[in-house]
Amino acid sequence: MDFALSDEQRAIRDTARDFITREVVPLEQELLRRERAHRPGLERGELRELQLKARKFGFWGLATPEEYGGMDLPAVTQSLIWTEIGRSFVPFRFGGEADNILFYCNEEQKREYLLPTIEGERFSCFAITEPGAGSDAANIKLSARRDGGDWVLNGEKTFITGGNEADFAIVIAVTDPERGARRGGATAFLVDREMSWRSEFIQTMGEGGPASLVFDDVRVPDRNILGEPGQGFTLGMEWIGKGRYTIPSHAVGIAERALGMAIAYANTRETFGRPIGENQAIQWMIADSETELEAARLLILRAAWTVDQGLDPRHASSMAKLYGAGMVNRVVDRVMQIHGGMGYTRELPIERWYRQVRLYRIFEGTDEMQRLIISRDLLRGYTKLGGQLA
Ligand SMILES: Cc1cc2nc3c(=O)[nH]c(=O)nc-3n(C[C@H](O)[C@H](O)[C@H](O)COP(=O)(O)OP(=O)(O)OC[C@H]3O[C@@H](n4cnc5c(N)ncnc54)[C@H](O)[C@@H]3O)c2cc1C
Repeated sequence: MDFALSDEQRAIRDTARDFITREVVPLEQELLRRERAHRPGLERGELRELQLKARKFGFWGLATPEEYGGMDLPAVTQSLIWTEIGRSFVPFRFGGEADNILFYCNEEQKREYLLPTIEGERFSCFAITEPGAGSDAANIKLSARRDGGDWVLNGEKTFITGGNEADFAIVIAVTDPERGARRGGATAFLVDREMSWRSEFIQTMGEGGPASLVFDDVRVPDRNILGEPGQGFTLGMEWIGKGRYTIPSHAVGIAERALGMAIAYANTRETFGRPIGENQAIQWMIADSETELEAARLLILRAAWTVDQGLDPRHASSMAKLYGAGMVNRVVDRVMQIHGGMGYTRELPIERWYRQVRLYRIFEGTDEMQRLIISRDLLRGYTKLGGQLA
């Protein structure tokens, strides 16, 4: 068994690390200042500038096929890069990306939606969640009724990331209530903001809150159906599937950086005449964190490897998302504990991570939904005990 990265994986990972260290990390002090001034994050123009710099470095469209100018990287390499991104608390991501399901656009839609999104000229958001349907996404109610050559959308979506800034939304709507969403009764629509949906920002404990979207007799032409009519729920699940290994990959980067800070602090902060790292209570927090980090790293890389092998990644990805999200919450909590009062201040990024990573256990499938998938696979015999090695 070989746990080593290939030369190519290592080279790409190291170049990404280099870029983050040289271009992103130097912005951290300014980001902390902004956090203290209650205007957190990067502005759109600042993010774009960084992304264009990264493009010159060769980083553009990690998951985007080469025919659209992207890198089309294997999932394992993407996972390694998301971990590098996670090492800095500056909310950076590489450019040249589009929602995975936008690649189902037809030729006309590609020109209007996909290509400008990849170029960063247009901004999308993805909307399936509703006030009455989150985990139970098949229970969505936002309706699309046919009217001549158009569809008329009515209903509400909620918690939509980027929903207040997006130029267009990918909306999963019910087109055949008799069949229900899961059995072909839902369709995905590309809905421009000019078609007159409204959005309202939702305050959260994290940065860059999501929005609720209101559709009040919004007319959408038939040509704006994404994929096939009736394919909406399947596309929705495909969109969510992508985050199941990228989110925990990002979490590994955060946990590594945070644990590094805790180790440095434990070696230098003195109480009772000696470094706090000489106390077993602190040592055990460090040991548990490192062990959990390594376990998460391997689960995530296996999930990504499963994607690259063309195998069904759902079981492995659910375990990676469940464990990775829990791991980063436990590690950041311990890192805050090791830093004492300083960990709770906005002089350091720890309190920010603490708020940020809580979301990882909720969005794109809660902990409970991951457990549901994992146990259902075993109880119904879809997956054998023992994973790939069985
Ligand atoms: C910041 C943020 C960004 C988001 N971005 C997007 C986005 O871009 N697009 C989008 O469509 N959605 C988005 N979401 C929505 C997110 O995916 C949902 O919040 C999530 O799926 C949970 O749904 P819910 O909030 O309705 O909780 P519910 O489904 O109501 O669940 C409430 C609680 O009950 C538990 N539960 C539910 N059913 C069961 C069960 N059968 N067994 C055991 N426990 C159960 C859940 O795990 C949870 O703990 C975002 C959410 C947040 C907070």
